[in-house]
Amino acid sequence: STVPIKPKICIVGAGPAGFYTAQHLVKKLEKPEIDIYERLPVPFGLVRFGVAPDHPDVKNVIHTFTKTAQNPNVRFLGNINLGSNVTLEQLKNAYHVVLLTYGAEQSKTLNIPGENINNVIEARKIVGWYNGIPWDTDLNIDLSGEKVAIFGQGNVAIDVARILLTPIDELKKTDITQHALDAISTSKIKTISLIGRRGPLQAAFTIKELREMLKLRNCNTIWQPQDFIGVSEHLPTLVRPRKRLTELMLKSLKEQNDSACNKEFKPIFHRSPLKILGKSKVEEVVLGVNELKGDDILNQKSSLTDIRESIKCDLVVSSIGYKSVQADKDIPFDSHRGIVNHFNNKVDKGVYVSGWLGTGPTGVILTTMGNAFAVADLILQDMKEENLLNNNKGGFEEIIKLLNKQNVQVVSWQDWEKIDQFEQSEGKKNWETEGEDS
Ligand code: FAD
Repeated sequence: STVPIKPKICIVGAGPAGFYTAQHLVKKLEKPEIDIYERLPVPFGLVRFGVAPDHPDVKNVIHTFTKTAQNPNVRFLGNINLGSNVTLEQLKNAYHVVLLTYGAEQSKTLNIPGENINNVIEARKIVGWYNGIPWDTDLNIDLSGEKVAIFGQGNVAIDVARILLTPIDELKKTDITQHALDAISTSKIKTISLIGRRGPLQAAFTIKELREMLKLRNCNTIWQPQDFIGVSEHLPTLVRPRKRLTELMLKSLKEQNDSACNKEFKPIFHRSPLKILGKSKVEEVVLGVNELKGDDILNQKSSLTDIRESIKCDLVVSSIGYKSVQADKDIPFDSHRGIVNHFNNKVDKGVYVSGWLGTGPTGVILTTMGNAFAVADLILQDMKEENLLNNNKGGFEEIIKLLNKQNVQVVSWQDWEKIDQFEQSEGKKNWETEGEDS
């Protein structure tokens, strides 16, 4: 009798897309070998380094991912970079299936004059800094001015605004990095403007994030009444999540007052950043006033008018979205959109994509999970229909030889658990010393 061929699958990227696909595949296949290659020595992608430290509930998915990683048929292989330590070609030779889920880790650029002046910073870097991503730890963010302008109105923009405006005693209760906490405790920021190209009906943030802003202690949300002209007329036609979000904005606009708060959060609609001005550092930004065009209200596009205005600011944060990179020359890549080229998540025979690398940088973890499960089903179907398991493959035994030649130190799941235990005990120590001080 013939011995059945063991399915060997490699996943590149240990974020939600990678873990959810692994979870689904390991449930459906009999004794597969699933290897998750991750560039960092630590797992979980943006759950660890993106999701804000004051959202501990969101981070709970880590427990599910940990169960998957502890399954004997799944192997976490940290500190391995697709593109420098291993190539797509090598992975294709060693595995029946290669799944790319290495996310979107670069920022889109503004491409406007002044983008490189001091105190213009990408939201992505601030997020890395408060979450402890190794290469953003030493970021010296100047929080000594009173006014901040954030370009972009997505949830990442709101996360950054919220973290910078939250009272320090509340931030202390989160697992924000100590260096960020120290810096924010001396911050002089009073006003954060959140600038978006389109109107309230197209706002990119979601209701949960807006609610958190409205509840923020010692901070007023100030809307510009002119941004809301005509908005309430559309309410009856809106679908539920959009309707509730719009209603909340209108309610907050109606209730807005100048109650004594030290800090202000100012959403500004219908404006595009055109120029950043300043000598040694940012002093002001020039905005173009937009009008909206198109019949489909929710998908109206912004169009620049001749009207300009400028606002003074001391720090500019650009939060206009993430994009992916072509990690390996053999990956078909759309550099304009910043995603891997694919048809229904299939890149090539036996090669697939899932998560932000394929969809672009939109969608919460739940959306990414839906995409990952669908890709896992497609892989299972193709294994049969395209006969992907037609010969034995070398798997990790083959790849480790290549890694050993380069002296790459692979971080196993057990190694990562040791790092985690160490970090947690250090965190606890800091916390205890703080307690003694106060
Ligand atoms: P990622 O999470 O980015 O995972 C990709 C992994 O691939 C990373 O671990 C990375 O290190 C690794 N990698 C990269 N390059 C390589 C390489 N060359 N070789 C090997 N490995 C590589 N969603 C929510 O539901 N709630 C929230 O509160 C929330 N907050 C967010 C806050 C921010 C700032 C951001 C950016 C996103 C947030 N999201 C939130 C969205 C959520 O993080 C994404 O939906 C999800 O992380 C996408 O998963 P992914 O696996 O596609 O990518």
